[in-house]
Amino acid sequence: MEQGLHQIWDPVRTAKFQDALLAWYSEHQRALPWRSRPDPYRVWVSEIMLQQTQVQTVLRYFDRFVRRFPDARALAAASEEEVVSLWAGLGYYGRARNLRRAAIEIVRRHGGRFPSRFDEILRLPGVGRYTAGAIASIAFNLPEPIVDGNVRRVVSRLHALERGAPERFFWEQARAWTPAGRAAEFNQAVMELGALVCVPSSPLCLLCPVAAPCEARRRGIEARIPPPRRARAAEEVRLVMLVMEHEEEILLVREREADYIPGRWGLPTRALARGESPARAARALARSFSPEPGALEERGTVRHGVTFRRIAIQVFRGRLARRPRARGGDDGARWTPRAALDALVTSSAFRKAIRCCDGG
Ligand code: SF4
Repeated sequence: MEQGLHQIWDPVRTAKFQDALLAWYSEHQRALPWRSRPDPYRVWVSEIMLQQTQVQTVLRYFDRFVRRFPDARALAAASEEEVVSLWAGLGYYGRARNLRRAAIEIVRRHGGRFPSRFDEILRLPGVGRYTAGAIASIAFNLPEPIVDGNVRRVVSRLHALERGAPERFFWEQARAWTPAGRAAEFNQAVMELGALVCVPSSPLCLLCPVAAPCEARRRGIEARIPPPRRARAAEEVRLVMLVMEHEEEILLVREREADYIPGRWGLPTRALARGESPARAARALARSFSPEPGALEERGTVRHGVTFRRIAIQVFRGRLARRPRARGGDDGARWTPRAALDALVTSSAFRKAIRCCDGG
């Protein structure tokens, strides 16, 4: 099919490409825990974890997660807090909440069995076209294409797309490549090629199983595709954060004025306006939870990075002799025993702030 300047490969070229890639994959694929038993539930959990997260990081979380929640029923029966606490450190916590919501749907609509049709998978919360294609092809061997960053780069280089191409072209090429009956292996093989050989800045063309049909390689322009992206300038953010203590309890809040740090529960936090005094901002914040917050002690600054933001957090500690009722009600704020913090506080930014107040 013609796509402006770009043309989907013909069947002969496609067949040679599939054979070369599948032979390479059978020898060189990494042993990953979700590959050893690719049932749809495990594939789904791994694909959601892998969104915007490196494989090495996911390896530290996957086994523990599927041991605790071995199937959709177990996940649906868990509280949101427990699911998010097992996700602590992986970031983008909306993914964990959507996983649980989708598990509830799987139980409610499909009797706990993972749906096997592409359109049903696509309807699950948090599942987009890529993830639905990955589950349908890897777990059910359906000939559904997938296009992620790795596949897009491989297609771009094989076609020498120096100026990019419409998104539709990538999906149509991926669909034309996906072989009926071997979609599971093939889709993983293209992604694996992008992850291990056709890597972003210096592709390993000498080791590449599909160098022969590669147009970028033939023209000697492989490293130019895709063009290097200009790094996004880091945004500096200054926050104040309160560690309000009463005996062995710490005040946690659900809604925070500065929503830069993910997690359902966290320490009271507020962004500093330009020129605003941190002490004054901390005091105003403390008053919003306790009419008489007492003295606040400045404990220092902790630094935290979230995607393109560099966050400097000035931490203040308040010790309350009496335990005031937390304004915001049971749903909005809660006094939490120190021993229970780990289960509720998911971001390391809050943990660093609490550590900053420990010892004196
Ligand atoms: Fe990528 Fe090089 Fe292989 Fe082409 S030959 S697909 S640029 S690794």
